[in-house]
Amino acid sequence: MTQAKYIFVTGGVVSSLGKGIISASIGKLLQDRGFRITIQKYDPYINVDPGTLNPYEHGECYVTADGMETDLDLGHYERFTGIQTTRANSMTTGRIYKSVIDKERRGDYLGKTIQVVPHITDEIKCNIQFLGNTGQYDFVITEIGGTIGDIESAPYLESIRQLKWEMGRDAVCVHLTYVPYLRAADELKTKPTQHSVKEMQSNGIQPDILILRTEKHLDDHLRQKVAGFCNVDLECVIQSEDLSSIYEVPVNMQRQGLDAAILRKMGIPVGEAPAAGPWNHFLELRQGATQSIRVALVGKYDLQDAYKSILESLSHAATYHHRKVDIHFVNSEHIDEHNVVEQLADADGIVICPGFGQRGIEGKILAAQYAREHDVPCFGICLGMQMMVIEFARDVLGLRDANSREMDPNTPNNVIDLMESQKNLAQMGGTMRLGAYGCELQPGSRVATIYGETHIRERHRHRYEFNNRFLPDFEAHGMRCSGRNPDSDLVEIVEMPDKRWYIGTQFHPEYQSTVLKPHPLFMNFIKTIIR
Ligand code: GLN
Repeated sequence: MTQAKYIFVTGGVVSSLGKGIISASIGKLLQDRGFRITIQKYDPYINVDPGTLNPYEHGECYVTADGMETDLDLGHYERFTGIQTTRANSMTTGRIYKSVIDKERRGDYLGKTIQVVPHITDEIKCNIQFLGNTGQYDFVITEIGGTIGDIESAPYLESIRQLKWEMGRDAVCVHLTYVPYLRAADELKTKPTQHSVKEMQSNGIQPDILILRTEKHLDDHLRQKVAGFCNVDLECVIQSEDLSSIYEVPVNMQRQGLDAAILRKMGIPVGEAPAAGPWNHFLELRQGATQSIRVALVGKYDLQDAYKSILESLSHAATYHHRKVDIHFVNSEHIDEHNVVEQLADADGIVICPGFGQRGIEGKILAAQYAREHDVPCFGICLGMQMMVIEFARDVLGLRDANSREMDPNTPNNVIDLMESQKNLAQMGGTMRLGAYGCELQPGSRVATIYGETHIRERHRHRYEFNNRFLPDFEAHGMRCSGRNPDSDLVEIVEMPDKRWYIGTQFHPEYQSTVLKPHPLFMNFIKTIIR
C-alpha cells in the first residue's frame, strides 16, 4: 500500500465518550491485521500544549519519548498498540495558529488576508497528512478532541470535510455518540444521535460509521432506526456498551465487525480475523483474578485521570500477577503526623505521586517516612522520589530544613535543586527536562536486577534535580543513588537496599508500561507486595 488511508474519529452529544479508547482500539485491530498504523490527537483548545493545564482541567499530561507534553489519550494509544508516539502525534489549535502567525510574520503569505478558511484549515490539513506522507503508515487515525458543535471544532470539521472530498474512499469518519436511557420511560433514546449526525451533515460530513455509547444493550430495531435516520449502513452502526475494562473494548469492537466495516468502506479486502492471542491471554488473566492487593496512591488530586498512566501501569502489573489492584487515593493535603498511620495502615504498598508546587508536599514526606519506618513497599515517582530524598535528609541525615528549591528557594539544604541551565528561564511553558533520557544503573543494585540490564531509557518531566553536593552523605547512610544520567551525572534513581522495596525514580516509568509489555519496576513492585 502506498497512499496512507485516513480514519477520523469525532464525538457528538457529550464529552467523555471514550473517543481515545475507540481510536486506540481501531489502531490495535488494524495493527493486528498487519497494517502499519499511527494515531494522532488534535485538540481544539488554544493552549500550545497541555503542559500548563491543571489535571482538573485536563487529566494527566502524557509525555512522549521525544519530549512533547501531550493529551492523556496518547497514553491509551501507546498502551494499546505498543507503538511509541512522537510530537507529530499531538496537535492543538494553539500550535496551528502559532505556526500560521509565524508564517504571516515571515511573509510567507505576502499580500493575502489570513483567514480561518483557507489558512487555518490548510495548516490543519497539512499537519493531519504529515505522518501519512512519510510513507511509513498504511493508516493514520486522527482523533478530534472536544464535541462537534463546539465553536472551537469548526475549523477541524471543515478540514475533514475537504480531506474526505479530496480522498474519496481513502478517508472515513467514525462518529461517536451517546444513547441515553430514560429510566422513567424505560426507553433508550436515539434523538441526540440523530441531531449529532445532522450537525455533522450540516458541516458537509456524512459519518461512515457510528459508534453508539450506551449503558444498556441496543437491539437490532434501534440500530436499524439509527441507520435509517442517519444514512449509515446497518453493519456500520456499532454499539459500545460499558465494559468491565477498557481493554475489552477492542475485542468487543472486533466482534461487531468495526475493523471489517472500516476496511470494506475503504475497498480493502477484509480477510481473516486475526487471533490476538497475547491480548486475550491478558484479558483472561484479568477476568480470572479474584484476590486484590491494596495500593495507596498518595497525591494531591483525588481524581482518576490525574494519575492515569500510573493506575494503568499498576493494573497491568497486577494482572500479570493474577491480582486485582484496589487503589486507595490518599489526599496528601489531609495527611498529618497524627493520622498518617491510620491513613496508610491498610495499604499493602504505597505510591508517592508526581506533582508540582507546595500544596500537599508535607503529607507526601510523612507518607515516605511511614513507608520507610514500617518497611512498606514504596514507589516514589518524580516529585514522589524528591519527597523520599527530602524525608531521608531531614530524618536520617539530620538536616531538619532540607527541602527542594521549588518549595523553599532559601533553604541552605536544598537537596533537590534547580538545574544550572534552567536558572535564568522566566517562562513556565516548555522549560522542563522532558522526554526520554538514558540512565546507567549501578551493577549489583536492586534496579539493575529488576531491569535485567544496566542501560535504560525513561521519560522525564520535571525542572528540579537531586543535588549531587549531598550524594556522599546519602550513600553513607543507606540511600543508594543507583541510577545516573551518563552525560550529566544527574541522579535518576534512589533506593534503600535494606528495605523490602523503597525506590524513587526521577523519571516517569508509567509512560512506558503497555498491556503486552508491562513495566519491570511496576511488575517487581507488585511482586514484592504479594510476597
Ligand atoms: N515539581 C517537581 C519538579 O519540577 C516534580 C515534577 C513531577 O513530579 N513531574 O522537578
